[in-house]
Amino acid sequence: MHEMSLAEGILDIVEDTARAQGASRVLEITLEIGALAGVEVDALRFCLDAILHDSVAADARVSIERLPGRGWCLACAAEVEIAQLYDPCPRCGAYQVTATAGRDMRVKDLLLE
Ligand SMILES: [Zn+2]
Repeated sequence: MHEMSLAEGILDIVEDTARAQGASRVLEITLEIGALAGVEVDALRFCLDAILHDSVAADARVSIERLPGRGWCLACAAEVEIAQLYDPCPRCGAYQVTATAGRDMRVKDLLLE
């Protein structure tokens, strides 16, 4: 599953950061996920639950912030909001929209103890 490898990547970042800061526990993990990142949030939560269980972040609260997707429509020559990758332009209906924002997922913040 795609989300399991994402969860493993998140755990790596969390453990590296906790080690670097000399933290004994991770209290909260804040993730930022773009609407166009292709991440199933429910599946990711499920994988994180499983994978964080035996880690320094066993009790951590996971907050997920969604970022809207944006793209550049060639026909309108304007930036438009899109809900999914390869969606048509909401203004003119053309399929000439190049995603410009919302394609990434990152660990935005960690609360350590
Ligand atoms: Zn358009």
